[in-house]
Order: sequence, then C-alpha cells, then structure tokens
Amino acid sequence: MSIGIIGAGQLGRMMALAGYPLGLRFTFLDKSKDTPGAQVGDIVLGDFMQAEDIRRLAGEVELLTYDVENVPVQALREAAGDTPVHPAPAILEAAQDRLDEKQAFARHGIETAPYRPVDSKEALETAIEALGMPAVLKRRRLGYDGRGQHFIRAAADIETAWEALKGAPLILEGFVDFDREVSLIGVRNRSGETAFYPLSENSHEDGILRLSVAPAGQPALQSEAETQLKALMEDHGYAGILTVEYFEKDGRLIANEMAPRVHNSGHWTIEGAATSQFENHLRGILDLPLGSTRPRGHAAMINCLGRMPALEPVIRFADTHYHDYGKSPRPRRKLGHITVVRDDRASLDAVITELMPLIKAAEGGE
Ligand code: ATP
Ligand code: MG
Ligand code: MG
Repeated sequence: MSIGIIGAGQLGRMMALAGYPLGLRFTFLDKSKDTPGAQVGDIVLGDFMQAEDIRRLAGEVELLTYDVENVPVQALREAAGDTPVHPAPAILEAAQDRLDEKQAFARHGIETAPYRPVDSKEALETAIEALGMPAVLKRRRLGYDGRGQHFIRAAADIETAWEALKGAPLILEGFVDFDREVSLIGVRNRSGETAFYPLSENSHEDGILRLSVAPAGQPALQSEAETQLKALMEDHGYAGILTVEYFEKDGRLIANEMAPRVHNSGHWTIEGAATSQFENHLRGILDLPLGSTRPRGHAAMINCLGRMPALEPVIRFADTHYHDYGKSPRPRRKLGHITVVRDDRASLDAVITELMPLIKAAEGGE
C-alpha cells in the first residue's frame, strides 16, 4: 500500500518510520530533498500550495494524508475525487481559520476564550473595549509556534500589534490566565472506532512547545475532553489523529485550537504508549483496528530548538530516547526531541530537571 504525505517535515517522517513495519510505502510532496521526510521515503518535488502538484502526488499513491495544515482545501477536495484524503478536507478547512474553528467548537458546546473578529483598527479598539486587557491579537490563518500573534497588555500595545499584523484577517482573543495547558490526542478509524491517549501537560516558551508530560489529567477532565473530541470527530466522519489544545483554568477546559493531524504534544507516545500516535494515525486512515493507547509509564518529551544537544550525554540518562530530524540549525527551529519514560512521576521529574539545562546549554541558552 502506498501512502502520499503532503509536506515532508518531521511529522511525516515519523509517520513513515511508524508505517514501514506495517508494510506501507511513503511518497512525500515538498519543495526540497533536504527535508526530514525525503530522508526516509520517496519525494515528489513540488509546492504543496499548488493544486497541480498535489494532483501529481495523488497520481502516484493510493491514499493521501498531510503533515502540514496550510494545504489548499479546494485542491485536496479535487484530489479526493480519485484518491481518498484523510483526515477529510472539511475539518482541515475549519482548523485553518481561527474564527471557523471557534464556531466549530461552539457548535459542540466546547468552551473557548471570548473573541471578536477584527478587520480594522476601529474594530480592534471596539474589541478591546468589549474583551478588556490583556488580550491576544492573532492572524486567523497560517500562524504556528506563536507566530502571527501579539499580546496586548496595555493601551500602548494596540498600535504595535495592529501595525505588525494588519493586512490579514485577524481575531482578538481574551487572555486566559490558565493554570496550565493540556492537549488531548484522539484517533478514529473510518469505521468509527475511537481511542484516546491520556491528556498531556504542555509548557511553552515564547509560544513554542518546550515540554510535554503525560499522563497529566484527572479522570473527570480526561472524560470531558474525550467526549468533546468524539463529537468533533463524529461530526466530520473523521479518520486519523485529531488533537485539541486546551487551557485548564480552575478545573475547567477552555479549547485553544485543534489540529487535524499528528501533533508535537504526542511525540511522547512513540516510546511512552503501547501504540504511537503515528501508527494509530495510519491505522485510522487505513481503516485498520486501532492500537492500544495505554501509557507505558510516565513520559516526558522535550523539544530541541535551534541546536541539537550531543547524543551521548543525553542517552547516558536511563530510559532516554534521542530523535534528530536531520534539519539544519536555525534559531528556535524544532530540530528534534528527547523522550524520557520512567515508572513513576517523581523520578521522571528528576530526570527532566537534569536534562533540561543540558538541552538549553546546547542551544546556547541558560
Ligand atoms: P501552535 O504551534 O501550537 O500551532 P499557534 O501559533 O497556533 O501555535 P496558539 O496555540 O494559539 O498559537 O498560541 C501559542 C501559545 O500562546 C499558547 O499555547 C499559549 O501558551 C499562548 N496563548 C495563545 N492564546 C492565548 C490566550 N488567549 N490566552 C493566554 N495564552 C494564550
Ligand atoms: Mg496552531
Ligand atoms: Mg497551539
């Protein structure tokens, strides 16, 4: 069976690595051979923003999926006429626009931060009056790793935020003074079987994910999140992995955004769960029985940003796994991650405390 992956980033690469043992073959669509995916599969050189190039990939494979979110939905719909595309273009369309995304959450009774669409400076000022400060001004489309957003803490920030982001459709969100951030990763196959990983607790630095720890949720929170993801997946006849990022505040879940794909906060599942998110994504889109999402202990995933730490000092720690995506160094770029799996949370925390400074030192930080 041949699978086409639109985008040849690290997510696609990890999907392929999980898929080979199942007897699957992978072809990526991306602009360059110097991509994480191209090192582990065939590549069709092209631009995944172009319908024509997506059609070329579709012509070579039996099933299409994607590891990037900004794929033109219309092109996917056309390709889907001949080659199945999962997850379905409809949910990708909702996830691509923060306004549509919030409306999709609302339809399923999922709480979000208060928000206002913004298309002019006047609209921004009115929205600030309505929501108060602090607030977060975001591009509705194409943001990631905290790019395309500005925090507005005082009146003086309004002008700066507007000048930085104007020209694109925007949304103002009320600031959520969260206790912590968590995400739920769920999977559904085409026949409707679903499975959910334990909630993961996520810590960000400057809008970029640094650390995920799982399992991290109370049973009540876990089951509330599962009910929400199940509703979103059923509504869209979903197949594959779906991720929802939440703020947790006073024991309540407030949805931030969703991603209809494998997710950085689920990388711990490679070694930390019975079946990884990557294998389950493939099982879901191929309509195979899903694998167990049971955790194998307590897991942490630390992102390596800008520069990789040396291999040896990292894997000298017991139960530590090193993932280098083979990308060229660039400040703050996600180049790899380290996973630690331990039997108990206290010893996991102890390893994180020792490992984190080593990783940051390699990056040139503290
Ligand atoms: P990702 O790489 O996760 O796709 P993104 O660029 O889409 O990131 P968000 O997830 O919306 O951006 O925001 C990045 C981070 O900024 C959040 O994880 C959170 O820490 C902070 N943040 C975003 N929106 C808010 C908010 N309304 N209130 C408080 N913090 C926020
Ligand atoms: Mg996002
Ligand atoms: Mg996010």
